[in-house]
Amino acid sequence: MRLDRFLSAYSPYSRREAHILFRKKLILVNGIPPREPDQDIRISDTVSVSGEIVVPKEHIYLMLNKPRGYLSATEDKRDPVVIDLVPESLKYRHLFPVGRLDKDTEGLLFLTDDGQFDHFLMSPRKKVVKRYFARLDSPAIPADIEIFRKGMNLGDFTTAEALLEIGNAPTEVYVSITEGKFHQVKRMCETVGKKVLFLKRVSIGGVELDNTLAPGQIRDLTEAELGKLGYSGKRGVK
Ligand code: URA
Repeated sequence: MRLDRFLSAYSPYSRREAHILFRKKLILVNGIPPREPDQDIRISDTVSVSGEIVVPKEHIYLMLNKPRGYLSATEDKRDPVVIDLVPESLKYRHLFPVGRLDKDTEGLLFLTDDGQFDHFLMSPRKKVVKRYFARLDSPAIPADIEIFRKGMNLGDFTTAEALLEIGNAPTEVYVSITEGKFHQVKRMCETVGKKVLFLKRVSIGGVELDNTLAPGQIRDLTEAELGKLGYSGKRGVK
C-alpha cells in the first residue's frame, strides 16, 4: 500500500496533508524518514506521525455513555448529536450509532464505522438483549412481571417475552428486551400504568456500560467485550 494512502485510510490526515507532513519530515517508517510520500509500505511496517504510531485499524468499535439531550444520529440541524462527542482525531472515520436511544435516554450506545457490526446487533433474528434501568412515577407490582413476560399489545405490535425486575425501590426497575421498537420501554411501562421519569441503558448483549465513563465519555470496546457480543468481524489488520 502507498504511504500517503495508508495515512489517509488510518489517520486523520488526507493524502495532501501526508505530502506536507513528509516535507516537514514528521513521518517515520520503522523509525526512518521515508524516501517518498507515496512509497510502498507493508502493513507490518510501523508508521508514525510526529511521534504517534498510526495503527491500521480496519474498523472502530466504541462505547459511549450517552448523555441526555443528544440525538442518536450523525447530524441534525437543531439538536446536538452523539457524533459531536467523538474525539476530533476520529472524526474522519465516519462513525455512526448502532441503534437509537431517545433524546432524553442516557447510557450505553455503541458507535462504529462497521455496517456489518450494526447489522449483526440490530438484526431481530439475533435477539440481542438490551437491559434498561428505569425510574417510574409509581411502584411496579409483581403482577407487572407476568405481563412483561407474556408480551403485550402496544397497538402497532405485540412485544416478545421481556424481563421486568424490581430494583432497590418499587419505583426502580430493570427491563430487558430483545427488540428495539420506538419508545418501547416507555410504552411497555405505560401499558401497566407507569410513566418513565428516567431511562438509562445499562447493557447490550451482556456488555455492561463501563461505570467509570461519565455521561459524554467514550472508550474503545475491548476484545473481550466484542467476544462477548459474539462478533468476529474485521477489527484490525495488524
Ligand atoms: N425504550 C425507550 O422507550 N426509549 C429508549 O430510548 C430506548 C428504549
